[in-house]
Amino acid sequence: MVARIIPVDPFDLVIFGGTGDLARRKILPGLYRRLADGQMPAEARVIGAARSESDDDGFRALVREALDEFLPAEQRDEETIAQFLSQISYVQVDATGENGWDDLRAHMREGVIRAFYFSVAPSLFGPIAERLNARGIADETSRIVAEKPFGKDLESARELNRNLAAHFDESQIYRIDHYLGKETVQNLMAVRFGNMLFEPLWNNKYIDHIQITVAETVGVGGRGEYYDRSGAMRDMVQNHMLQLLCLIAMEPPSRFEPDSVRDEKLKVIRALDSVDPREIVRGQYSAADGQPSYRQDVGDPASKTECFVAMRVGISNWRWNGTPFYIRTGKRLKARASEIAVVFKAAPHNIFEEDHGLHSNVLSIRLQPNEGMELGVTIKEPGPGGMRLLDVPLDMSFAEALGPDAAEAPDAYERLIMDVIRGNQTLFMRGDEVEAAWAWTDPLIGGWEGRGDTPMPYDQGSAGPDDALMLMHRDGRRWREIRA
Ligand code: NAP
Repeated sequence: MVARIIPVDPFDLVIFGGTGDLARRKILPGLYRRLADGQMPAEARVIGAARSESDDDGFRALVREALDEFLPAEQRDEETIAQFLSQISYVQVDATGENGWDDLRAHMREGVIRAFYFSVAPSLFGPIAERLNARGIADETSRIVAEKPFGKDLESARELNRNLAAHFDESQIYRIDHYLGKETVQNLMAVRFGNMLFEPLWNNKYIDHIQITVAETVGVGGRGEYYDRSGAMRDMVQNHMLQLLCLIAMEPPSRFEPDSVRDEKLKVIRALDSVDPREIVRGQYSAADGQPSYRQDVGDPASKTECFVAMRVGISNWRWNGTPFYIRTGKRLKARASEIAVVFKAAPHNIFEEDHGLHSNVLSIRLQPNEGMELGVTIKEPGPGGMRLLDVPLDMSFAEALGPDAAEAPDAYERLIMDVIRGNQTLFMRGDEVEAAWAWTDPLIGGWEGRGDTPMPYDQGSAGPDDALMLMHRDGRRWREIRA
């Protein structure tokens, strides 16, 4: 099944931080794939902007290297690469200085969409926005894309919002959370709101609980010092995991359009209960087999920052009261796996005397690896032996159901960049949403910082600290296996 690709309108996309890690790993390879797929037109242009002394050819060489490093060989085609590089140029510009801005203005064409990707530290968002505006480089139809982290607490997020709002209208600001660009995440909305099957059951009467897991096998790597100032709560929960929770929990929006969807997500965030400290487990991985511990990785033997967090979250509204959401995320866990599991209640009465098991349907939404959905259903165990029941999956992995093209679905970043060009903000966070998420997160972080809580150690390659298992055991439930 081949999806019809509609090219977007011609654009000038300026990537501030065009020489940085994110641009090289995600943004530039993603744009190349959009060109190869026919979605990015030949009239589009990509302009790298950074302080490093370079020129068009120097930047093209960097882009070429990035494509070689981050695209699989079968996706690289010399003719397309040559075309892509011909659409690329470079401007040397200092976000906080005065040099380079006139050059940038001279680069911009009239009559095409202008987009500016802020792939730089958030402290530079304000200075760049101000200069784009003051120098007449951006106008009221331009779009800006803000990378995470969008603040480190409510106060800093408010300040970022104020700095951007001083120069751009909210309708021009695209706060990116790449989790929202994932195929499965959008499919979650399609499944919920495009079918009659699930929505009537999508509430506290039929759903026992929901689990959201984002497990990584990597440690903090070379980002130790940066990560230690943030931690799993700020880095993963406040943004990605809360966004996933919102999509599961929100009421059906009246339309699939930006403000309808974002209004509903905001209501969910505002209905989140505060979390009892006894229902939060924080962890740090210990040293193992020559592998350093978290504290060694970040170079602070007394660090109290968590690289694992699990918690039980309640939502106080009619739909969800009494149905807990358990969320957990961590580094150096047993597998790289992200999953949302919607666990339905068991049937109210068992009519099969031979079977003593407890059966409940689980809708599992896998974000990585192998994006897809699976619905666990209970059937009769085949063969003789009476009515013994068995749980089996009804699998809908995209690659199998939709053919090989589905496996090549655009990466989250490239999909979101195309949404920016199309002017569609549905999958981007609005300013008030980000602030509400921090308003919920801040007191939890403030709580453990104020108490001086120390995260629990856990074994590398495990499912996190034992206390995280107890968090669910106490409620008579258990986490699903973390498996790739
Ligand atoms: P990076 O590798 O350190 O790159 C930073 C980029 O910003 C470089 O191109 C740098 O080039 C440019 N830059 C720095 N100061 C500048 C200035 N005053 N004026 C103009 N350009 C300047 O960082 P990154 O990993 O790409 O991350 C960029 C942003 O995305 C950060 O906010 C990060 O938190 C966020 N992010 C990154 C990732 C990721 O996977 N890397 C994922 C999610 C979010 P010059 O030094 O030449 O100026």
